[in-house]
Amino acid sequence: MPKHLPSQLDPRSPLVLDTRELPRRPGALRTVTRVVPAPADLGLEMIGVPEGTDLSLDLSLQSVSEGVYVSGTVSGAVQGECGRCLRQIDDSLVVQIQELYAYADSTTDETTEEDEVGRMQGDLIDLEPTLRDAVVLALPTNPLCREDCPGLCIECGVHWDELPADHSHEQVDPRWAGLSQLTRKEE
Ligand SMILES: [Zn+2]
Ligand SMILES: [Zn+2]
Repeated sequence: MPKHLPSQLDPRSPLVLDTRELPRRPGALRTVTRVVPAPADLGLEMIGVPEGTDLSLDLSLQSVSEGVYVSGTVSGAVQGECGRCLRQIDDSLVVQIQELYAYADSTTDETTEEDEVGRMQGDLIDLEPTLRDAVVLALPTNPLCREDCPGLCIECGVHWDELPADHSHEQVDPRWAGLSQLTRKEE
């Protein structure tokens, strides 16, 4: 079986970088600055980049002897749900991208495992897997609306922020409330 299948990438796809403009001379540099729609399912179950929202790519592509080194940042909006109170979280994130995409049949290509470094597909680079890895790493596995979110009262489901400090579900019967105050006075 051939090691390199013909490129399946669409050069017009927003997360595919075309390096035809980049001379294959080590040190040659091109920048890629563009805003692209976020692909589906970018993130984790509880939090992620909403599909179709703007992702800003601010990348530089540098020719190195073994391939093309892509570095820079990708930034965008993040939406999720607080793991304690289920409130919506609206945030933003900036992730660093640093990845070598090896030329087909370069020494790097031949001496590394498939998942160790990226691979050029002809003149094209598929940024999406690298971006997915970076975004997933940058997101919290247990997102919170704020660091000290107290969560919900497990009895009534109301946010602790909206409940008085002495909120409690004991002595629900008002007929006993007065009596218990009397008892407390005696103590
Ligand atoms: Zn919360
Ligand atoms: Zn309650």
